[in-house]
Order: sequence, then structure tokens, then C-alpha cells
Amino acid sequence: MSSLQNWIEKASKWSNSIVPNIVKVLNDARDESRNCKLLVAGQFEFEVQNGSMHYVVNLARRTCDCTDWDIRGIPCRHVVLGITYRQDKLENFTDNMFTKDRCMGAYSYMIHPIPDPSFWPPRHRCKSYKLEASS
Ligand SMILES: [Zn+2]
Repeated sequence: MSSLQNWIEKASKWSNSIVPNIVKVLNDARDESRNCKLLVAGQFEFEVQNGSMHYVVNLARRTCDCTDWDIRGIPCRHVVLGITYRQDKLENFTDNMFTKDRCMGAYSYMIHPIPDPSFWPPRHRCKSYKLEASS
């Protein structure tokens, strides 16, 4: 019980709009994007060269050829390069399920404490059911 309350208090102090472990993933992707080369095709469309591979990124459709962004909802290194070029925020292209508000909302419901079993109603008041084998 107290660990949930501790977590809620700790989470309320997060400075980013994205949960901390996803911020780390985004920072790692930013670091990895430094090894990539960006070719601008349009306002929202890019080709990213990563080693010998080429990936098409479309920010408007939220797609990258590596499919990492589609699967995880977190921009991959190729997408991060395009977002950085546009001087946009990585958070704007990260799935809403990783936002602080969404996470806090999931844990906003109270878990009521359970009384000691000695305070539970006597067993004979509970109706019991027996399963019968089907023939
Ligand atoms: Zn990618």
C-alpha cells in the first residue's frame, strides 16, 4: 500500500512530460542518431542513411522503414534525426501512453485496504458452490 503512495508522490515530481525510462530511451536514440546521415525529401519526409542501410521516415504518417517506431511508439534513431532537424520536440512524436499524465491516471484509483481476516464474515454465511463433473 505504502509503496504505491510512494510511487505516486515520486511520479508527481517528474520534470518531463514523458516517463523517465522513456526519456532515457529517447536520449539513447538521440545519441545513436549521430551516426546517421539525413537527406531531406520534404517537410515531413526524410531518408536516413545508417551504415549501409537507407530508411524512409515520414513524420506525418508516423512511419519509419525499420518499423521500430510503429511497434514501440517511441521514435527510433532515424525518426529522432528528422525531428531534430525540424527542431521539434521528441515528446510530440512519442505515444501518449508514455506521458506522465497517462501514467498518473492509471494509478489514480485508490486501492482500498483489506481488513484483517478476523474481521471477515463467518464462513457459514458465505454460500459455497461445488463444481460437478459433466458426464
Ligand atoms: Zn527507424
